[in-house]
Amino acid sequence: MSQTPGNRRIYLSPPNLDGREKERMLAAFDSNWITTMGPEVELFEQEMCRKLDVGHAVALSSGTAGLHLALLVLGVGPGDEVICSDLTFAATVNAVKYCGAHPVLIDADPSTWNMDPGLLEEELSARERAGRSMPRAILPVDLYGQCADYTAILAIAARYGIPVVEDAAEALGAEMGGTPAGGFGAMGVLSFNGNKIITTSGGGMLVSNEASLVARARYLATQAREPVVHYQHVEVGYNYRLSNILAAIGRGQLERLEEKVRKKREVNRYYREALGGLPGIEFMPEAPYGKSNCWLTAILVDADRFGVDREGIRLALERENIESRPVWKPMHLQPAYRDCRFRGTGAGERIFERGLCLPSGAQLRLTDLERIVGVITGAGRPRS
Ligand SMILES: *Cc1c(COP(=O)(O)O)cnc(C)c1O
Repeated sequence: MSQTPGNRRIYLSPPNLDGREKERMLAAFDSNWITTMGPEVELFEQEMCRKLDVGHAVALSSGTAGLHLALLVLGVGPGDEVICSDLTFAATVNAVKYCGAHPVLIDADPSTWNMDPGLLEEELSARERAGRSMPRAILPVDLYGQCADYTAILAIAARYGIPVVEDAAEALGAEMGGTPAGGFGAMGVLSFNGNKIITTSGGGMLVSNEASLVARARYLATQAREPVVHYQHVEVGYNYRLSNILAAIGRGQLERLEEKVRKKREVNRYYREALGGLPGIEFMPEAPYGKSNCWLTAILVDADRFGVDREGIRLALERENIESRPVWKPMHLQPAYRDCRFRGTGAGERIFERGLCLPSGAQLRLTDLERIVGVITGAGRPRS
């Protein structure tokens, strides 16, 4: 569609570089540290540790690389099983496959959309009773910026002696019980992809309070190079480090994290106030135990009550040059993961069928929000 000032395209979650990113990037460029190490990388790691109140961090080329490394560090290998959230982006389970291991998919809890702790407990106790082997790790996702229920999940994991890796790719800036997202479990993984709450264009980070876990991840991410001059390799490594130039962008982004989270929460509040009263529209529930970063605002559409279904709203928005996106399609419904073991109630599938993510950029203006809400309201059943 042609673009006029009145219908400027509104994206789902575009990059928002409104701080000192460019200045810092150019300074890194001028310093000639144009490689996957350097002062910006170290400073970015240190600043993230302070922000998340964790002891150690390694900056990486992507969040997916972080998940892969976290699993390798825990010794996940061919034939092992790893318990994952079913309602997630494919990167979570892809990382399990990179290790030659098999994901075991746990359905969403309808009250949080995150891994259902009751189903996790069922899966583990059923295995114990049957004398089956236990999974090597549990990988819950903090969906759309809301922490999974770590009080429950960590207690269950501890009872069975299974380590937890937090996929906090969507949740930087969120918290639960005063602990920042990324700080739960043995390791946490962040993403700085272009659409995430902060971006380095592409990048990620693995964080932990255990120095040895991060040291091992750093070693594997640096081609498993032994600390000797002649390039000795005892193990197979990976080229997973973040560029110094991109770390400079990340530092500029991180300085403004609180501001971005504040704006995303404002966007979420605006939608709740403007759409919450419409028949057939519900919002992703806010868990009482924490505070989401509101990375994406998601709604559930009841077609019978609203008048059109989720796809009807999506197409109405698209006709007005506004991007929206169905909630992640559960992994057990994906052809690539159809054969995985799945424990569920159908909750994630129902969320997928009715769920829509609305534009949630931190730079949305009031006029943009009014435009979006106007289209959604107009798409519903005419009211007298
Ligand atoms: C974005 C995302 C990832 C992967 O991060 P990349 O940096 O894009 O590799 C992993 N898990 C979830 C839940 C994500 O949303």
